[in-house]
Amino acid sequence: MIQVYTGDGKGKTTAAFGLAMRALGHGWRVLVVQFMKGDDQYGEVRTAQRLANLEVRQFGLKTFVQRGNPGADDVRLAQNGLEFARKAIQSGNYQLVILDELNCAVDYGLVALTEVIRLVQECPAGVELVITGRNAKPELIELADLVSEVREIKHPYQKGIVNRVGIDR
Ligand code: ATP
Ligand code: MG
Repeated sequence: MIQVYTGDGKGKTTAAFGLAMRALGHGWRVLVVQFMKGDDQYGEVRTAQRLANLEVRQFGLKTFVQRGNPGADDVRLAQNGLEFARKAIQSGNYQLVILDELNCAVDYGLVALTEVIRLVQECPAGVELVITGRNAKPELIELADLVSEVREIKHPYQKGIVNRVGIDR
């Protein structure tokens, strides 16, 4: 099945990792491909180093991507990520594959929606695919079996509190 977690509230990436915890409990092998992220000190990356069946791979720089005007390295990394994901999905090595922030990578012009659609359509039975990130495209929502929208009602950034260690990263 294809799942999409989107919306402007906090909880998309962490929901995907919550699902990973559940799947790992049943012995599944889980791959998370993170787009537009390049900080290997994220808590989830550190945790994965201690869990045999959870693999987290990052395809991004540490700096922010400019929307609509991405750098060549941003584009190259995102496309490498998508190619890596495609091979992993087809490999039979993983039962759960999470493509974290792929919606943002499409939204920011790093990868083409048509390529994402193709990857989804070619996803074999036996692989659960989760795609996270704000601004999921209607075409992807149409194709997905499960779509959840996290809506922001309140967030500490409104009080100037951002990027807390252990909570946001
Ligand atoms: P999480 O990774 O905590 O599950 P998320 O995947 O739903 O969050 P993203 O859109 O990927 O959220 O945003 C990444 C981080 O930025 C989150 O940890 C969130 O708390 C924070 N964030 C969300 N909205 C804002 C904002 N407007 N300003 C600053 N930080 C924000
Ligand atoms: Mg996220």
